[in-house]
Order: sequence, then C-alpha cells, then structure tokens
Amino acid sequence: MNGHFSAVGETLAPGSYDHGVQVIDEEKDFNDNLNEYLQLTKVADAGFNYHLISVFGSQSTGKSTLLNSLFGTEFSVMSETERRQTTKGIWMSKNKREESAGTKMAENILVMDVEGTDGRERGEDQDFERKSALFALATSEVLILNIWEHQVGLYQGANMGLLKTVFEVNLQLFLKDKQSTPRSLLFFVIRDHLGTTPLTNLRTTLIQDLTKIWSSISKPQGLEQSRIEDYFDFGFAALPHKILQGEKFIQEVQNLGSRFTTGHRSGKSDQGLEGGLFLPEYHRRIPADGFSIYAEGIWDQIVNNKDLDLPTQQELLAQFRCDEISREVLINFDLIIAPLEEKQTEASKLGVPTVLPDLGISGKEAREKCIRAFETQASRYHKGVYARKRQELEGKVDTRLKALYQGQLAAAHKAGVTAFSEAVANKVKAGQKAGGSYEFAEIVANEKRKTLDIFEVEAQSLSIEGVSWTGFGSQSSLFEKELDQVSSKLRKEEMRRLATRVERWVKSRLGEAIGLEFNKLGTGRGGMGAPETEDKPPTEKDLWDRIWTVFTGIVKEAEVRFADRAKSFDASDAEVLVGAWRLRRKSWSALREKIEEEVMEGNILMKLRENFEDKFRYDEAGVPRIWRPSDDIEGIYTKARESTLTLIPLLSRFRLSETYAPPDLPEFIGLQPTGVEAGDEEDLTPIGGIDEEEGKSLEEEMTVLSESKRQDLVVRFKKTADGVYVEAKRSAIGGVAQ
Ligand code: GDP
Ligand code: MG
Repeated sequence: MNGHFSAVGETLAPGSYDHGVQVIDEEKDFNDNLNEYLQLTKVADAGFNYHLISVFGSQSTGKSTLLNSLFGTEFSVMSETERRQTTKGIWMSKNKREESAGTKMAENILVMDVEGTDGRERGEDQDFERKSALFALATSEVLILNIWEHQVGLYQGANMGLLKTVFEVNLQLFLKDKQSTPRSLLFFVIRDHLGTTPLTNLRTTLIQDLTKIWSSISKPQGLEQSRIEDYFDFGFAALPHKILQGEKFIQEVQNLGSRFTTGHRSGKSDQGLEGGLFLPEYHRRIPADGFSIYAEGIWDQIVNNKDLDLPTQQELLAQFRCDEISREVLINFDLIIAPLEEKQTEASKLGVPTVLPDLGISGKEAREKCIRAFETQASRYHKGVYARKRQELEGKVDTRLKALYQGQLAAAHKAGVTAFSEAVANKVKAGQKAGGSYEFAEIVANEKRKTLDIFEVEAQSLSIEGVSWTGFGSQSSLFEKELDQVSSKLRKEEMRRLATRVERWVKSRLGEAIGLEFNKLGTGRGGMGAPETEDKPPTEKDLWDRIWTVFTGIVKEAEVRFADRAKSFDASDAEVLVGAWRLRRKSWSALREKIEEEVMEGNILMKLRENFEDKFRYDEAGVPRIWRPSDDIEGIYTKARESTLTLIPLLSRFRLSETYAPPDLPEFIGLQPTGVEAGDEEDLTPIGGIDEEEGKSLEEEMTVLSESKRQDLVVRFKKTADGVYVEAKRSAIGGVAQ
C-alpha cells in the first residue's frame, strides 16, 4: 500500500486510485495527479456541480471508517489489532454511492480525509493541524467534525483545540473578502452515541462550548463584535457504536447519507438544513476543472506561511485557467484557420488573387466555436479576469480573421477588376465582330453591376453580427471607385478606338475626293486662259478652294459622327471637344499627306503633261487636232505650254483664290481644349502656324512645292512638252508624206 506514496508525481494507472488520491503527502507536498484523478472520475467536467467535504477529528476516532461507510470510499482504516495511525496527509476520494436509504445523493461529492493530529506518531503537530484546517476551509463546503459522545462538554478536550484553530483560521482567511465571505457548515457527527442523552441536549452543550471558544479567540480589528453564526451553520448527527450495535450503525449511516443532497435555506436557524446539507452559499465557486490548480496554489501559500488571500488566489486561478482554456480553444480555431491562411499566403506569393470559397462561413463558425467554448469553460471563473481574457482571446482571433478577410477582399478586389476589364473587352470584341453595333456605356454599366454584386456578396458573407470590424461597406465603395476608374480608362480606350475609326474614314474619304480634284488637272479644258464666269464648271484656279471645301466638309461630318458616338458612351463634353480637336489636326495631317502624294514628282509631272496635251492636242471644242504643216503648231504649243506652266506656282502653295491667302487653318483647328488631357501627344504631327514652338509658319505649312522643286518641275515639264511638240511636228510632216 505504501507504493502509492512513492508514486506521487508520476502518472498512475486508473486502478491505482482505488483508495482515492493523496492530495497532500506526509512531507506536505502537493500531488500533481489530483487533476488526473478528477478527470478520470469525470468530476473535472462538472463545472460547479460538485461538492467538497472534509472530515476533521482526533486520531483513531473512526473518521475513515465513517467516510467509507457513508460514501463507499476505500480510505485506509486502522486494523483492529495494530492500532497505528493510518491516514497520512490528506486524501481525497469521490463518493461511490449513488443513493442512501432510498434517497439520491448529490452528484460528484468529493470527500477529503484529513489526518488526525493528536495521534501518537505526530505528537503535538499543531502546525499541520493549522495548515490542513486552512486548506479545508479554503476549499470545502462542509466540515465534518467527528467526536466521541463522551468528549462532548469536555471543554478542554483535544478536539476543542482543533475547533479553536478552525475559528481563528476562518477569521484570518475571510478577513480580506468581507463582502463575499462564504459560509461553511460545521457538521458534528457524534460517535458511540449511547442514546441515554438525546441529541438535542448534546447539541445545546456543543453550541455552548462553541460560543465559549468563539468568545475566547482574539479577533482581528473591526471584527471584535462578529458572531460565530456570521460564518458558520451547524449540523448534528449521532451514530451508535459500530462494533457493539453493528446493525443499527449501518442503519443510521444510511439515514445520514441521505442528507448529502442539495438544500436551501427555508427558515431561520439550522431547521432549514433538513432539505439537504449542501446549500449553494457554501460552495467555494471554484470550477471543477480549475480545482487542482486552485488547491495547489492555496497549499503553496499555506506551506510557505504566506497570507492566504482567497480573492487573489481566485484571480490567479482565473488567469491561469483562462489562459489555459484560451490556448485549448485556439488549437481548434487554428485547425480551421491555419490551412486557409496558408492557401492565401501561397496564392499571394504566386501573385494569383485567390478568393477562398466559403471563407465567411468557416471564419464565422471557427470564431463562434472558439469563443463559445471559451465562454462555457472560462465564464465560471472570476468575472473580471474572464471578461479581460475573453477580450484578449477575441483580439487574437480577430487579428487572424481580419488579416485573412482583408486578404480575401483584396483578392476579390483584384480579381473583380480583372474580370470587369476582361468582360468589357470581350463584349466589345464580340460587338465589333457582329458588325460594330454595341452600346459601350451599356456594356460597362452591366458589367460593373455584375462585378459589384459579386464583391458585395463576398463582403457581406464576411460580416459577423455584432462584430464591428467585419462591416466592409467602405471596402465596397472603394471597389466601386476603382471600377469607375477602370471604366473611365476603358472609355478612353474606346474613345481612342473610335477616333482611329473616324480618322480612317476621313483618310479614305480624303483619298478619293482629293484624288478626284487632282485628276481634274489632267484635263486642261477651259484652262486656256478663257474668261471665268459664274456658271462655268470649276477651273484650275480654284483647285485649293475646292480642296478646302471638300476637306472641311468631310471633317465636319466626321466630327459629328465622332461626337454622337462618344456621347453614347457617356464621354464628357470636354472629352468630346478634345477628341474633335485631335480629329481636326489628324485630318489636316492626312490631307497634307494626300497632297504630298499627289505632287510627288512622277505623279505631278504626268498630270502636267496630260493637262498640256489636252490643251495642245484638242481644240476649243474638244476635238483632237490632226496636225497639218500649215497649222501654227508653234503658236499653239507655246500657248498650251504657258498655260500649263501657270499651274506650277498655283500648285506650289495652298491658297484660296479669292483672298490669295492660305485658309484660316488655325481658326479651323481651334485652340486645344483645356480641362482634359489631349491623350497621346506623340502621334500628333506638328502643324506650322499652330504649334508655334515648332518654329514653322503657316506660310511654310501651306507650301506644297519648294522653290527648287518648282524649278526642277518647270525644267522637266518643258522637256516633256518639247517632246510632245517635236512629235506633233513630225506627225504633221509625216501626214503630208502620206
Ligand atoms: P481514524 O484514524 O479516525 O480514521 O479511525 P479509523 O477509521 O482508522 O478507525 C480507528 C479504529 O476505530 C479502528 O480500529 C476501527 O475499527 C474503530 N472504529 C471504527 N468505527 C468505530 C465506532 O463507531 N466505534 C468505535 N468504538 N470504534 C470504531
Ligand atoms: Mg483515518
């Protein structure tokens, strides 16, 4: 049996607890296995639903025998023959009986068997008596005082010394916590009751003795007037001699056992106790799962002779247990949250915005489970500490969730923006494929609504009722702002596409129309210095007027097309204005290019030759001339050549015939609209007379052929004309020869 003692501190097999667990050993050491015992006996999960009883009394007065009979425990009992002290230190065992004398006993009764102190072996160990009394009072609801009948009234008896100790210790213990002083029940069990003196008389005698003892102890300041009833309730029971009246003893123990149920205070005095010995006010309010730590702390203070301050001990216990419970519940939280955090980190490392599915549900569940589990266990502890620790826990949980949720929203944000841009681009592409009829503004509005809805649903799913930081309304509006920015970027791109389309249209129209005007040069009809009249068809002289008119007409038409379309996708007035301005500039550049092309050496020379030939080889009526030797070939040649030669200075400059000045290009193009950026300036060719800083004047801008080119053209044209002339001459002679 001594084997139990040596095993203190090691993990014992469940079977080893048959005799209960030794809480304090004979070396006054606390046993670490107490919690394991409470867990094995399922008391640890009981919260406040447990009761603690301690038994006190002289050595060998049948205390252990009484407990074993009452609760079916197996505390060691002195053998009838050896008569040596058996109970050492303090033992604890759970009640093994469910009912007594037909009454259901309270659940989870823990019984502490405290070593008697007046025994032969320990001698006058007042120290341990005091310490164990302190320990019992700090933990137990009921203190059973086991006493022989023949000791009752013997005021000097050894047990009275014990009572004095209990009272003193109680005053010391609860001095610091006057408001919440818990009461205790002192339950006297009178042994070997002969029956000749009724229990009521014994009770009266005992109460007198107790009052005497109470008045004899020195009370701390402020408590001089306190009465014994302020701290204790009293209960009494008598039992017959176990050996001499075995049957009756068993019977009475059964009756006594039936009193270990929960009760309430129904009337005054101890009458109310009849309903059951365990009054709620006796309970020390230490949750069962914290009992062993509390008990250890208390014992530690006691053996080290420190002031035992129960409220402080309870706060310390609460801190310790709340931290422990917090760690436990965080493990389960971690099981759900850590993999999600990993996934998110992984995704962000790869740069792929990943929206974790059902994050709101898992996050909320993990949080609630965690906090609820904490609440269930920890709320039994000191309220202030619990509230603080709960806040701490919520802080930890929320920090993790917040990071996760913000990552989620950031991913939803990024993914949303990408999806939005892609969707708009695809719809536009599809629209273009289907023949270009699509409403850009409508596409943008629809896609924005869709994307915003998805984001809002996600943000909504992350919100937890009553948790302020989970309100992500502002994130939604941030997201919407970003979508608007993206929209305006997309709209600018759409504007650019539109501008390109319109520019292409202008180019092609110009290509045709201007080509046509230049082609007219090829026919020299009416160009032979004939007087111009109002109803005459266009002449060579108003070439530039016609070109300008055609040009401005086309551009105006293009501007209207551009503005109409741009307005349809909500472009601002300023954006339209700047677009039109760009269009006019680009159109002018296109015109310049077209003119350049027309006056390229080969092209223009051919036109001049055609013009000359037309004048030279056809008469006024447009009939081809058949040269005869008598014709004034030279005269006609000179006239036609001079007439065509006048085209060269005309072609050299873009001038309107009426003013003999360049058209008002600056007026036509207008000033750059302010308030909106013109976009890509790179693709705008500088225009003389408009982009002053380029150093080119309007005059230069309007110069089509440079001086040297002009002279060169004159020389070349003359050579060509000469060739034609020689040929005509030859054909005239040849015609005669035929
Ligand atoms: P403890 O030291 O107070 O725990 O006493 P024990 O329970 O070990 O018992 C001490 C001795 O008293 C044992 O020899 C028991 O047989 C004896 N004993 C137990 N119950 C009674 C009783 O009701 N009356 C008497 N006279 N002796 C008892
Ligand atoms: Mg004993």
